[in-house]
Amino acid sequence: MYDVAVIGGGAAGFFAALRAKSLRPELKVAIFEKSGALLSKVRISGGGRCNVTHHQFDPVLLSKNYPRGSKELLGLFHRFGPLDTIAWFKERGVELKTEKDGRMFPITDSSETIINALVGEAKELGVEIRLKEKITTLPEAKTLILASGSSPDGYEIARSYGHTIVPTVPSLFTFNIPTSPLKELSGIAIQDVKVTIDGFSMSQRGPLLITHFGFSGPAVLKLSAWAARFLHEKGYLADVHIDWLSSIKAYPILLNYKKEHPKKVMSTDNPFQFPKNFWKLFSMDKPWKDVSDKDLLILAEKLHNDVYKMEGKTTHKEEFVTAGGVMLKEVDFRTMQSKIAPHLFFAGEILDIDGVTGGFNFQNAWSTGYTAGQSAASLC
Ligand SMILES: Cc1cc2nc3c(=O)[nH]c(=O)nc-3n(C[C@H](O)[C@H](O)[C@H](O)COP(=O)(O)OP(=O)(O)OC[C@H]3O[C@@H](n4cnc5c(N)ncnc54)[C@H](O)[C@@H]3O)c2cc1C
Repeated sequence: MYDVAVIGGGAAGFFAALRAKSLRPELKVAIFEKSGALLSKVRISGGGRCNVTHHQFDPVLLSKNYPRGSKELLGLFHRFGPLDTIAWFKERGVELKTEKDGRMFPITDSSETIINALVGEAKELGVEIRLKEKITTLPEAKTLILASGSSPDGYEIARSYGHTIVPTVPSLFTFNIPTSPLKELSGIAIQDVKVTIDGFSMSQRGPLLITHFGFSGPAVLKLSAWAARFLHEKGYLADVHIDWLSSIKAYPILLNYKKEHPKKVMSTDNPFQFPKNFWKLFSMDKPWKDVSDKDLLILAEKLHNDVYKMEGKTTHKEEFVTAGGVMLKEVDFRTMQSKIAPHLFFAGEILDIDGVTGGFNFQNAWSTGYTAGQSAASLC
């Protein structure tokens, strides 16, 4: 009979098992993993570099990065947040570094470093690891931690206890714009755009990447997370509005530029900091003085509200996640314990929690795993 049986050898399952065993070394703690490999998503995460967490140490601001689960995570972040994640890995010899956009990676730029730290710690503590053990009927255990990610059999186990599963939909994807005239500019990034979807109340600002199939980049990926359910219901067909100059007003700048540089050719002379080829598609091939003020107004309007037809989505290979899962109001977030079955705990993506891109999804796994492990151990 196990004291703590963890279902799922991913980030959340590992963190839960390690916390339980480190608090109570005498307990029999096991991780059951259905595949032949541990921490598979950690391995491929962040393009093989593993974006472990985000450089946001204020729990309130951190929680705002979760389209689902923001309120519930707040208390957990006070208990175990990104600073604790950084310290945890540092104590195991893994230094993290911060990139300009706040994403944190191991200084080795290799997810293997993270896997070695987690697996090494499990071995040192004596956590039993049972590979190729797909759990459908429950192992004999005093407490059970369900950390099976977005796997359907994990949802089935939760259901068998009476839990509700919020229907799942994909999150973190790029927008397919088959009719986009910008496709030929694939690879070009525009730094500060605002992206809005018709009928959806929220917009997102940040860099946008033009790709050969449409739009990607942080602003698009973040909006895909917030609008995950809305876009799913629309069959991923929607009008996408782009403000290419979200922090300035284009019209006065265009008028002024015309006045100051009347003889320069508009298409080769750019008043903004747009890439040359991008500006060429928007501007006219004549001197500024020959462009009417009305045309400048039309151009300004287009730069602030450029509309594209989204027709489908593409999975973002560097990070994606499932929205939906175990209904949050059925879980006590002080302990991660089920409100329906007292010896059952949850951690990670199996819950109806998901973050935008940037290390927030792993932070959810570390924070919920940590508390689930601690609470399960204290119940034994
Ligand atoms: C390509 C990719 C890249 C990503 N990159 C990042 C990133 O850089 N940063 C970030 O924050 N997030 C990233 N994510 C998201 C992040 O990986 C997940 O949110 C996180 O791994 C969830 O951890 P988890 O432990 O809850 O679930 P998982 O990692 O999915 O682990 C669940 C485990 O449970 C096992 N399992 C399922 N059912 C059973 C069963 N019945 N019996 C036994 N075992 C079972 C599965 O085999 C799996 O190993 C990425 C996701 C993907 C797909």
